[in-house]
Amino acid sequence: MCGIIGIISTKDVYSNLYVGLLALQHRGQDACGVCVHDGEDMHVKRDVGLVRDVFTDNDAGRLSGKIGIGHVRYTTAGKNITKNTQPFKVRMPVDIIMASNGNTINTEELVDFLWDNNISMHTTSDLEAILGVFKFELKKEAGRSKVTSEHVFNAAQKMMNRVRGSYSLVIMVEGVGLLAVRDPYAIKPLVFGKSGDGKNYVFASESVAIDVLGYKAICDVKAGEAILVDFDFNVTRRIIGNVTKKAHCMFEFVYFARPDSVLDHVSVYEARLELGRELARKWSAKEIDTVIAAPDTSRTAALAFANEIGVNYREGLIKNRYIGRTFIMPSDVQRKDAIRIKINPISSEIKGKKIALVDDSIVRGTTAKKTIELLRSAGAKEVHLLSSCPPIIKPCIYGIDMPTHEELIAHNRSVDEIDELLGADSLTYQSIEGLERAIPIDHLCTACISGKYPIPMDGGILKRIAEKRKKEKED
Ligand code: SF4
Repeated sequence: MCGIIGIISTKDVYSNLYVGLLALQHRGQDACGVCVHDGEDMHVKRDVGLVRDVFTDNDAGRLSGKIGIGHVRYTTAGKNITKNTQPFKVRMPVDIIMASNGNTINTEELVDFLWDNNISMHTTSDLEAILGVFKFELKKEAGRSKVTSEHVFNAAQKMMNRVRGSYSLVIMVEGVGLLAVRDPYAIKPLVFGKSGDGKNYVFASESVAIDVLGYKAICDVKAGEAILVDFDFNVTRRIIGNVTKKAHCMFEFVYFARPDSVLDHVSVYEARLELGRELARKWSAKEIDTVIAAPDTSRTAALAFANEIGVNYREGLIKNRYIGRTFIMPSDVQRKDAIRIKINPISSEIKGKKIALVDDSIVRGTTAKKTIELLRSAGAKEVHLLSSCPPIIKPCIYGIDMPTHEELIAHNRSVDEIDELLGADSLTYQSIEGLERAIPIDHLCTACISGKYPIPMDGGILKRIAEKRKKEKED
């Protein structure tokens, strides 16, 4: 999972890209970058680290241009090194800048295609393969003539015909404008917005990045759609993909997106409240004294759950905000160490109490186990764990770091077995039906909780992707 933003404006865009990236920081903390175009040249800064650390006051002068793209990276494919940090840029037939959110599932096929056409890869990022295909198709479309919006739409369509997987893209094409593309399943979010005076247009992974700029969200980019804003601020929209069924990632609503975002017409905050209410419907009433949230994503669901069952919601665990989200830390070692230093219990809310602990999801179980231990060491009498997401039983191959079956605590285990491993007094999971009711979108991707992957694929693909990622982590 990553965060992307693209802006076209009458003024320099760097400072707005920076502010937008800060609002999207939760989507990736491994690396970040900005690339702008000043009409003649591209200016880029990319590095490993947080937005506030990578960019300095001096960058505003150097990163000058009225169109640009920003990216925050969360590593799922390719190593976390500067070379793999987005946005990527190429020249020929014109300058192109691209950033993505998602994961392709046919990267090898794309690399072979590029190789057959004498284009070699320099990184291990799947974005390079997408960019290579787009560049190849654009060159073919335009030939020796000046690149037009028509060429760009045609090239994007041909790219979409070749690339399989989840991808939301923002693309700057020199002399043409800013293009946004969302895959035919619309797995990853992508929102379109503009300023009140119509002099700034923006595409971003979440509406919150548009809100913080003081702009208004216009709409979501649709499944298989390409939207182009040219340098005269004309907007052209086209469905370029073969849309069979949509599959919006349910995990955006459960965990990933900010609660103040609205994605595909659904408020993330409202969905989380509803997830809490649905959990209450599954709760087999036990005597408890207090409901607390595993900080911070699950607070909204915990609050709604507490209201619904008529028990006090209290703040029992306080998070140090200056330590990264454990779930997106790259290694298990970092994850284990980070949990202890990032969450501290308030003993007076815990000691001698029977507690319902609401978590957003249980992926590997490392965080949940440690949190239960923490509550017990702070004197909790009982700890009943609830997850607002159903058991995660399959890996995500579309851009969330759940790479292998073995790492998932719920894979091939019953709820009782999981409960035993985690050390809770009871364990209650959301049902898939409850989750689908709570997130009022007709077509959700539920592959990691149901095993039903929306994009057709051959049988060996899960194994190949898992092996590739394992190798990348070991290297
Ligand atoms: S498999 Fe799960 S995490 Fe991955 S896109 Fe689908 S719903 Fe989201």
